[in-house]
Amino acid sequence: METKAPFIEIIDEIKKAGGHTYRLCYQCGTCDAVCPWNSVRTFSIRKIIREAAFGLTEIESDDIWRCTTCGTCPEKCPRGVDQIELGISLRRLASKYDVFAPSAEAVKAAAASLAAEGNPLNEDRAKRADWARDLPVKPFAENMEILFFGCCYSSYDPRMKRVAEAAVDILNKAGVDFGILGARESCCGERIRKTGAEDVYKSLAKENIKAFIDSGVRKIVVSSPHCYETFKNEYPEFMVNFDVVHMSQLVHELIEHGRLEIKGAYGKNVTYHDPCYLGRHNGVYDEPRAILRSIPGLTLNEMAASRNNSLCCGGGGGRVWMETPKGDRFSDIRLEQARAAGAEVMATACPYCITMFEDSRVILELEDTIEIKDITEIVREVI
Ligand code: SF4
Ligand code: SF4
Repeated sequence: METKAPFIEIIDEIKKAGGHTYRLCYQCGTCDAVCPWNSVRTFSIRKIIREAAFGLTEIESDDIWRCTTCGTCPEKCPRGVDQIELGISLRRLASKYDVFAPSAEAVKAAAASLAAEGNPLNEDRAKRADWARDLPVKPFAENMEILFFGCCYSSYDPRMKRVAEAAVDILNKAGVDFGILGARESCCGERIRKTGAEDVYKSLAKENIKAFIDSGVRKIVVSSPHCYETFKNEYPEFMVNFDVVHMSQLVHELIEHGRLEIKGAYGKNVTYHDPCYLGRHNGVYDEPRAILRSIPGLTLNEMAASRNNSLCCGGGGGRVWMETPKGDRFSDIRLEQARAAGAEVMATACPYCITMFEDSRVILELEDTIEIKDITEIVREVI
């Protein structure tokens, strides 16, 4: 087996990169049993942990790029091993030595675009607010109640712009005083951090924190659970604490407090897909469901795998940028699960989930069978 350095050195490097919890693993295999990869192909995070313990990690392997950071195995591990952080530590080493498996080549392009333009899509930073040009949206000003932080996908991707437009409509109808930072905002950095590019993440985080502080931001509403995770749980590493709310939480609150009135009906069978970073990572399960249940005519059918057992869409951990062959796509399985639940619409609350599911809809030729909607798009139709 080829290695880049003597075994002890590799073990030390893994520890330094944050992967020290391999020491706790007693190889019970629970993580492999619950990992969604094993419903499509053979993959063993347990083996990766074992190899790390002996300094036998192959950083050139495709396997170190597989984990979607879905959060399922850390919840079930009896020994408190942090499989996600361990996996990221191996990617940090791969990035440090500039060794990328063919499947991870796209990560390099995303990192370069993030460093140059503040988004992973190779789009012009100056055009970040163009999605809002013809909408009733103001630039954020210091005395405003809320900063609406549209993620990179909502800013540039034609499908996801519709989600940002729905959010704007809802916020305006509820009389929320909000603004956007436009070209002054950068990618939150969550995904690139999970690929091991810590320096790129830190630079993005610092840019955003400076923009928030300079603009007098106190409360941030996000459409993406990945922005939610980063702003709420990771930016405090820089000694800042913003009040961070996901759009599903805000909409629920607006309905509860009578600021948003549901006037119409939505006569469809709907199922709800829990995004990993809203559900398992942050425990937000009830508000999205409460919104859907408050809509007249809407029938909410749960899929067999829901809440903390929800199946990952496959797009986390930077995998949204990588090619995943047909047969290996979790999102294809999820669409079949939604159909088995009798859903005409699969609602969710995450730009990656929507991107992955929209792709699967095309690949599986289900365009006439099932729709994919962000919760805000459904709410927009009934207010
Ligand atoms: S579940 Fe935990 S203890 Fe068991 S093999 Fe996986 S990492 Fe090791
Ligand atoms: S976090 Fe999810 S994808 Fe990653 S190894 Fe654990 S179960 Fe598998």
